[in-house]
Parts: sequence; structure tokens; C-alpha cells
Amino acid sequence: MAGLVNHSMRRDYILEGVVEGTARPAWCGRVFVATSRGGGRTDISGAPDCPDCISLIEKAKAHAAARERLESLRDELDRLTGTADLRTLADLGRIRERVTA
Ligand SMILES: [Zn+2]
Repeated sequence: MAGLVNHSMRRDYILEGVVEGTARPAWCGRVFVATSRGGGRTDISGAPDCPDCISLIEKAKAHAAARERLESLRDELDRLTGTADLRTLADLGRIRERVTA
């Protein structure tokens, strides 16, 4: 089994493999059909996880977290600009810096 690794795919592709038998790409691009047993992984017993898949999953998680943070900062900015009791323009400036950082 030398050289074999377990690839992982996006969650929304798993059902297509399990239900319809459709082959879908792993994060790294390797195409396979997800099985209920593998749960979105290629399910090779004893094989390590594909480092490319792992790296891309981590990047996707970081990207999702950054997007969530940006959305919450935008909400905060909207709330501050929409309220009459805006304390100081400095508040707004600080928020804007965080949004554009
Ligand atoms: Zn992979």
C-alpha cells in the first residue's frame, strides 16, 4: 500500500456518490465515488490522509472563518452607521480599518 493515501471530498459531493454513484473530485482533484462506508474519503485501510486534500481543507476552513468575520464586521458597521447614537467617528474609523485589514 506504499504511496496510497486517502483523499477527501466536499460534503455536498458525498451524497451524490452514495445515492447516485456519481464520481466527484476530491479537494486535490483526484476523482472518486464516495461510499457510505468511506463518508467522503477514499477509505483505504491504513493509508494516511492525502496531504494536498488536508492542506486545501485547512485553507477552505480559514477562508470560511475569515468570510464569517468579515460579515459580522459589516453587520457591526451597518448597525453603527444606522444608529443615531453613534458615539464618535473614531468608532466608525476603527471598524472600517478592521473590515479592510
Ligand atoms: Zn487528495
